Amino acid sequence: MLSVNENSVPVQELEETFLKEKKIRLYLLREDLIHPEISGNKWRKLKYNIKEAKQIGYHQLLTYGGAYSNHIAATAAAGRAFGFKTIGVIRGDEVLPLNATLQLAHNNGMQLKFVSRSTYSTQKYEPNFLAELEQEYGKFYRVPEGGSNEFAVKGCTEIMKKIKVDYDVVCCACGTGGTMSGIISSLDSSKQVLGFPALKGGDFLKEEITNLLVKYSNAFKVEVENNNWELITDYHFGGYAKVNRELIDFVKEFKEKHDVLLDLIYTGKLLFGLFDQIKNSTQFDGKKIIVVHTGGLQGNKGFEERLGINL
Ligand SMILES: *Cc1c(COP(=O)(O)O)cnc(C)c1O
Repeated sequence: MLSVNENSVPVQELEETFLKEKKIRLYLLREDLIHPEISGNKWRKLKYNIKEAKQIGYHQLLTYGGAYSNHIAATAAAGRAFGFKTIGVIRGDEVLPLNATLQLAHNNGMQLKFVSRSTYSTQKYEPNFLAELEQEYGKFYRVPEGGSNEFAVKGCTEIMKKIKVDYDVVCCACGTGGTMSGIISSLDSSKQVLGFPALKGGDFLKEEITNLLVKYSNAFKVEVENNNWELITDYHFGGYAKVNRELIDFVKEFKEKHDVLLDLIYTGKLLFGLFDQIKNSTQFDGKKIIVVHTGGLQGNKGFEERLGINL
């Protein structure tokens, strides 16, 4: 069911004059090719959650997300592929017709439970609300919003495992920080890990990542040795899922030049930010950098629909 084997994800070198001038080698790790719907990091984050759910005997997965969530789309597709029923608790009122993300989730059999924004933000993990959900749907294995828990971190420790090129720095996009936590956990401090948050609020995220590293370390009795990591917080473009013409043009040009499609929420902002940092600072000169293409391309459909653009 996977498009490329998760253990041999291709690495693609990017050619750019400004990289050559600074003696930088830049490689894109093509996790986006893992699966068309369960793409990139969402597959990594679900893998051990699904194993755990199966092992303790659950038949349903329940998780959370906004109406454009890649995690919702991925959970629905993974549930279908691995024989689980799925329930998606969706932030905000139902709007019909469903957008591309929710339609895809629905087509993969996910039951959608729309809840108000206030219920979503304050109640979603509360015992009373969970009891109501259980009454409505029966027992379920619960995956947190964005999929990030200790099992997700474990899955993401496998991202950098089979890399055959030499590198100094790994860059990834961040939402809830699970992916970056896994990458950090899998490397020692000789490798620098840089995260580019797609949301405002870098301090909060730093705390979240620190918490996830501790949770992972405790759950699997492993030491996390790498403290060589940092967030670069200047490239959220106004916040989650906020885009502008400059970003859209960047993603289009990137595709023309490198034949790789980026998503507007995460990897577009990541590459835009990294290119900007490379051009306007010396910190990357002479370095070998791996950028993780975490996928998320299903999300572009929603932007194309809403903005009347073609990526
Ligand atoms: C969800 C997502 C991320 C963020 O992953 P976190 O583990 O939540 O930080 C990054 N890139 C893409 C394409 C995503 O879909």
